[in-house]
Amino acid sequence: MTQHILILPGDGIGPEITAEAVKVLNALKVSDNLDIEMTEDLVGGAAYDAHGLPLSDETMAKAQAADAILLGAVGGYKWESLDISVRPEKGLLRLRSEMKLFANLRPAFLYPQLADASTLKPEVVAGLDILIVRELTGGIYFGQPRGIRVLENGERQGFNTYVYSESEITRIAHVAFKAAMKRNKKLTSVDKANVLEVTELWREVVDTVAKEYPEVEVKHMYVDNAAMQLVLNPKQFDVMVTGNMFGDILSDEASMLTGSIGMLASASLDENNKGMYEPSHGSAPDIAGQDLANPLATILSAAMMLRYTLGREELALKIESAVSKVLDQGLRTGDIYLEGMTKVGCREMGDAVVAAL
Ligand code: NAD
Repeated sequence: MTQHILILPGDGIGPEITAEAVKVLNALKVSDNLDIEMTEDLVGGAAYDAHGLPLSDETMAKAQAADAILLGAVGGYKWESLDISVRPEKGLLRLRSEMKLFANLRPAFLYPQLADASTLKPEVVAGLDILIVRELTGGIYFGQPRGIRVLENGERQGFNTYVYSESEITRIAHVAFKAAMKRNKKLTSVDKANVLEVTELWREVVDTVAKEYPEVEVKHMYVDNAAMQLVLNPKQFDVMVTGNMFGDILSDEASMLTGSIGMLASASLDENNKGMYEPSHGSAPDIAGQDLANPLATILSAAMMLRYTLGREELALKIESAVSKVLDQGLRTGDIYLEGMTKVGCREMGDAVVAAL
């Protein structure tokens, strides 16, 4: 049965990098009978320019109807002064919350060929393979009440609410334990249980869910320590699970251990593994439109889509090994370039992956 993929290129380098991922998927349609149909639509600043909203209701409906979504990135200087309610990022947040994409999977995997691109010593990062599972639809980013109010003395006060219900913690914990079962069976749950009651509950619920996965070794870690351990000894981690805000920060930190954010894919899944797939980086307006962006994070996001939503693990592996081959050939975009390698642009990198398939 044909599966429908909605392609949302977005802003900045978004259109360039998604075009390369689409090229790879099109190649698999021919070589491996991948039965998908792709349609394209607008999100972020591009959607605002066209409709006055960062995501139109029609696009939202298409996203709901699709089997999976492949997104580039949103945002850019042009839209920074807009009211917060229509900023490009709101399009992403709407997709995540209306599609109930509560589980964000962000692998921080270091291709051995890129060990020298990391700012950490190669011996600290060589072999690094961490999966961060971040809760994506709850916590302080969505908690109510929120806002900026004026106090009686006339001073303004900003406030947000950090909330997690037991059911929200339970479902993300299951995703993390299941992922750990398929990997090295080690799970680190990150919280701030010494200060925040909401994460005291988080810790308790994770321990309850842990009883269903006796083979998985569980560790709890405070977020400040986790931030430090990621730099000190990142290879101690297999799967990490944490809330929305801590996950946002730690996954960016982990991504940099691998040398370039241009290499890192992500998946955001709902309860039925329907998902939205996107690179971990932003729209890089500084290099947009110059054929300089690294498309590999987006191509690897398409691989995650094949793995988690489309049920084609063998094609996911095929893409991942093509990426590895291209790195073996010494091809590098600017963000991962080291002397002695061959510098290529976004399109050439995409073509090389297709050739390596
Ligand atoms: P960014 O990730 O866009 O860029 C950070 C740096 O990394 C820049 O120097 C950029 O050139 C470089 N970079 C990023 N992706 C690259 C790639 N594929 N290849 C080569 N170099 C790459 O983060 P930023 O500069 O903080 O944000 C720029 C815009 O992106 C902002 O409007 C921000 O709101 C938005 N943003 C969007 C998302 C998203 O769509 N998921 C995520 C983060 C930021």
